[in-house]
Amino acid sequence: MRTIITGGAGFIGSHLCDYLIEKGHEVVCIDNLLTGKMDNIVHVIGNCQFRFIKHNVSDYIYVDGQVDNVLHFASPASPSDYLEFPIQTLKVGSLGTLHSLGLAKAKRARFLLASTSEVYGDPQIHPQPEDYWGHVNPVGPRGVYDEAKRFAEAMTMAYHRFHGIDTRIVRIFNTYGPRMRVNDGRALPNFMCQALRNEDITVFGDGSQTRSFCYISDLVEGIYQLLLSHEHDPVNIGNPEEITIRQLAQEMIALTNSKSKIVFKQLPVDDPKIRQPDISKARTVLKWEPKVLRAEGMRKTLAYFRDELISGGKRV
Ligand code: NAD
Ligand code: UDP
Repeated sequence: MRTIITGGAGFIGSHLCDYLIEKGHEVVCIDNLLTGKMDNIVHVIGNCQFRFIKHNVSDYIYVDGQVDNVLHFASPASPSDYLEFPIQTLKVGSLGTLHSLGLAKAKRARFLLASTSEVYGDPQIHPQPEDYWGHVNPVGPRGVYDEAKRFAEAMTMAYHRFHGIDTRIVRIFNTYGPRMRVNDGRALPNFMCQALRNEDITVFGDGSQTRSFCYISDLVEGIYQLLLSHEHDPVNIGNPEEITIRQLAQEMIALTNSKSKIVFKQLPVDDPKIRQPDISKARTVLKWEPKVLRAEGMRKTLAYFRDELISGGKRV
């Protein structure tokens, strides 16, 4: 199997590279390092099963030789990243998806799109099943990400229906683990690093909004099961255990034995109030469900961030 992973130097993409190399795949990682880093893949540089190509997939993608799978993960994913790079986010969700699908078509390869729970927007149905169409503000600041991913899903289904491409769509819910960036702006790395430094923990709004956090190894296993399946419609992959953001902040203080205090900041525009995946479909179709408990996942992630803060992110 020869597998292309766009965004392979990012948080999720780099774990997928490791997982597929372990499964015997030859992996080609294509990434322009906009929000990813070489540190995430440096351990596989020199491995004959791995190749890195620095390239912006919003431009035409050329890869020589046989390709069996194209996994399209390139996109800023943290709200602060896609607010900093709104046009790049729209381009990689639209043009990047078009070029990745074009590559899959030319190579007669399977295609898998990394979509997101953000396609449900600020949901009015709870938990969110795949047949919920969502509640998205197209012109708000988050619209650049949400609408790009909704367009990417539409484009993927069109290539499936019109060109007969063998496609998959995974709707990923909040995922965490080692290799998230210290400063990527997401709640979990922010809180963890703030707690480790005994700094104020910045909860947006009153912290009553909820999220459901999935550990990275569970997510990667779910994505692999989806790739092996014959399911063309979107599948939610996430951990349904839901907590409030205030509870997450309190847990982080307890976990790190920190002196940090919680401070409340303004809630970002269109911040979803609730989010929890309905994973009935993944359970029945993929026979998948998450296994890693939050306490265990948090411990592993904490060990990573401790190391990152000590080494200043320079571990190589
Ligand atoms: P990340 O920012 O760590 O990784 C994204 C990678 O894509 C980075 O390495 C970045 O450099 C690369 N990239 C961005 N634009 C590119 C371009 N034009 N050309 C080539 N490479 C480009 O983010 P992540 O958390 O690993 O997310 C990966 C994918 O999973 C994204 O598509 C994201 O939308 C999706 N997702 C992630 C989560 C989550 O909780 N992490 C949730 C839902 C969906
Ligand atoms: N959040 C917060 N403090 C932070 C960063 C985020 O309270 O320092 C909140 C954010 O407003 C959202 C939740 O935590 O309600 C999860 O945010 P994140 O950026 O992790 O991802 P999202 O689920 O919004 O994409």
